[in-house]
Amino acid sequence: ILIPHCIQNHNCKLKVTNDIDNCRKCGICKISDLQQLKEKYNTKIFVATGGTLARKIIVDNKPKAVIAVACERDLTSGVREVNKIPVLGIFNSRPNGPCIDTNIKINEVEDAINFFTCK
Ligand code: SF4
Repeated sequence: ILIPHCIQNHNCKLKVTNDIDNCRKCGICKISDLQQLKEKYNTKIFVATGGTLARKIIVDNKPKAVIAVACERDLTSGVREVNKIPVLGIFNSRPNGPCIDTNIKINEVEDAINFFTCK
C-alpha cells in the first residue's frame, strides 16, 4: 500500500517516511489508522514522498498487488507506470488544498485489501 506523504499532519515531526511504525498513534492524522490496518492484515504500507520513491518501493518489494493512494493527477500517471502488477487506486481528499494535510477514507483502503485477499 502506497500512501502520499501529505496524509501525515504537517506539524508532526516523526519520520513515518522511513517507517510507518514511527507514528505514535496520536490520531490527528490517518497514519495511525493505516498503522492499525497494517497490523490487522499483516500487509506492507509505505509513505512515499514522490513518484521516484514509490517506484523504488515497488521494485524493492516485488508485491503481488499494489493499492495506491494519491490525488487524481499523481494516481493517473503512477498507475500507468506499474506494469504486470494489479493496481487499485484510491483518491485522497484535499480539504486544505493540494499536498497539505490531505485525508483518506480508511474503509476504502480496507475494502481494497479485502478485494485483493478475496475476503
Ligand atoms: S497520527 Fe501519527 S503521524 Fe499522524 S500526527 Fe499523530 S503521531 Fe504523527
